Formats: sequence, C-alpha cells, structure tokens
Amino acid sequence: LLYNQVQDLKGTIRVYCRVRPFLPGQADHQSTVDYIGENGNIMIVSRHKQGKDSRRVFTFNKVFAENVTQQQIYVDTQPLVRSVLDGYNVCIFAYGQTGSGKTYTMSGPDLTTEDTWGVNYRALRDLFQISKARVDMIEYKVGVQMIEIYNEQVRDLLVIDGSNRRYPSIDLLETLLISLTVCTLDIRNNSQMNGLNVPDASLVPVKCTEDVLELMRTGHKNRAVGATALNERSSRSHSVLTVHIRGKESVSGSILKGCLHLVDLAGSERVDKSEAVGERLKEAQHINKSLSALGDVISALAQKSTHIPYRNSKLTQVLQDSLGGHAKTLMFVHINPEINAIGETISTLKFAERVA
Ligand code: ADP
Ligand code: MG
Repeated sequence: LLYNQVQDLKGTIRVYCRVRPFLPGQADHQSTVDYIGENGNIMIVSRHKQGKDSRRVFTFNKVFAENVTQQQIYVDTQPLVRSVLDGYNVCIFAYGQTGSGKTYTMSGPDLTTEDTWGVNYRALRDLFQISKARVDMIEYKVGVQMIEIYNEQVRDLLVIDGSNRRYPSIDLLETLLISLTVCTLDIRNNSQMNGLNVPDASLVPVKCTEDVLELMRTGHKNRAVGATALNERSSRSHSVLTVHIRGKESVSGSILKGCLHLVDLAGSERVDKSEAVGERLKEAQHINKSLSALGDVISALAQKSTHIPYRNSKLTQVLQDSLGGHAKTLMFVHINPEINAIGETISTLKFAERVA
C-alpha cells in the first residue's frame, strides 16, 4: 500500500487551465490565446505594434478552451471528488485574476440554472448520489463549512448572530443573522482533525442538494454584505467551502473520514504600488503573501521537498492536512483572453507552471 501511495504522489497535484470566452459584445476581439494543443499545451501570443509578435508555450495536465461546458469541466474533476467518499482529502482551487472566471468555474453564474452550475454544486450532487447508492454498505453523513479568509483573518460565512454553532439541523439556518464583523476564528492543526481545522466555524449537516443551495445562498449573502461595506470584497478574499464526510461501514462498524475543500481564491492581479494606498494596499499585500505561500507549498509538494512551508499563511494552515500526504490537489488556473490582460495572463501561467 505504501509503495502505491508513493508512486501515486506525483499524480496527486494536477493543474488545469481554463480559458474564459469573450463576453457578449466582445466577439470580434483578438485573443492572446494563439493555440491549444491536445497534450495540455497552450500557446500565448504577445502582440507588439512594432516588431514581431512573441509566442510562448505552457504545458499543464489539461487545457480547456473557451467553449468547454461546465459539465465537461466536471467530468474531469469527478474522480477526485468521488475519492472523498473513500476517505481521501481533496483540495480544488480556482486561481486567476479578477474577471477571469474563477467564480464561474466553482459556483457558476447563478444558482437557478442547473446547466451552468459550477463544480461546487455538481460535486455535492454527485456525493449525495453515490452515498445513496452505497447506503447498504456504508452510511454517510455530510456536513459543510463555509469560511472566508480576508486580510489573514478567518471568518465564518455561516455564522449565527455572532457566535458559532454546530447546527442540529438545516432548518435552523432560517434563523441566520448576518454579522460578518464579529468573529475571527482560530486555526488548529492536529492530525486527528481530518480537515476540521477551523473547528469553531459552523458545521452544517446537509442531506440533499437543496440543502446545499440554501446554504450557498446564505454564504453568498454574508459575503455580499461584506462587499458593499468594503467594495467588492469577494475578489479580495479567499472563500473556502469544505465538505466533511463521515462514513460508517455497516458490517465492520469502522469509520472513514474524508473532506473536500472547494476554494475560490482572491484575484491574483498585482496592484500598482503607486496607486494602492491604505486599506487597498494592505489587502493587496495579504493576497500577494497568501497566494505565494500557496504556490510555495504546492511546488514544495510537487518537488517532494522535505520541508513544506505551511505556516506562512492562513490559507495553507487551514488546508494543511488536505495538501500533501495522501491528499489530492487540483488547481484550475483561469485565463482572460483579452489583449490588455496579457501581463496577468503570463504571470498566472508562470505561477501555474511552477506548481505543475
Ligand atoms: P472571477 O470570479 O475570476 O472574478 P467571474 O467568474 O466572475 O470571474 O467571471 C467574470 C465574468 O465572465 C462573469 O460575467 C462570468 O459570468 C463570465 N464568465 C466567466 N467564465 C465564463 C465561461 N466559461 N463562460 C461564460 N461566461 C463566463
Ligand atoms: Mg469571483
């Protein structure tokens, strides 16, 4: 078994690149994506008014062109999601500059149309379906946490009047009050925790996809409230949806635990140092620090380094026991094809190449 795990290690970090389509009204725009090959290659072109265009190829596990559907994206994600029911810890990240399609991949453009549902809903629907099919062998319980990390502080997005609760049932959610400002939570790393590293964040039991939709609405509402106060905060904070699974085998009675972290990262764009001041500069520095800490951890894992620098950011601390070891990681990096995004596109692809 150990041998297999070691063999498997290299394959446990996957990087997928997704190209956002041009938005309505932009159909005639020129793209910086010159070519997408079959073997995970993407060629980016920098166009110069004078002189020659320059081209550069990047290679990932997969590249999804702009016409790829949410369903097709999920098909490639599904095996990873399903392994959670066998007791694995899994992290799925969305990385990219603001406006490149991170939230589209993870959540989708809205909650009403199933066709455009993102990875989050599809994953949960899938987990419920499979656990139902296995019910004679294993009885699964599913609980969800939703936190955000903003300026290196961890906040509960499913908070009830300023205190954190373990909900006895989903019905209690109706009583949720919005009070984002009140609590910042501690992170506890402990090998027994199995992904429950923010033990004080509300853990809500869910039984079906409808429960999850209800939860998401609450979480999004909580995020949105922060957003009006702090001006589009969602692009400057990481949001982490964690699905905790506990299965009890009916014959042996033994317990298995797995967890799935679905992470919509803060926008990766660099802010102009000359423009950002005060609060904005502080946010930018925190984002910068935590995204590079994440990059450092994943690249240390990919290189099988003996020291993995988890302690350098709240994000990597929260995810510590789900990054490395026998956990599995998938990073979706998002590309905005517009010409004026070329600088961010190149730096996104360089980041991704480093962790691939
Ligand atoms: P981010 O979360 O990275 O800031 P969004 O997910 O909000 O970016 O995407 C920005 C805009 O582009 C939104 O209007 C979104 O609906 C649209 N968009 C992103 N990706 C796609 C896609 N694959 N297909 C269609 N529209 C998309
Ligand atoms: Mg977003």
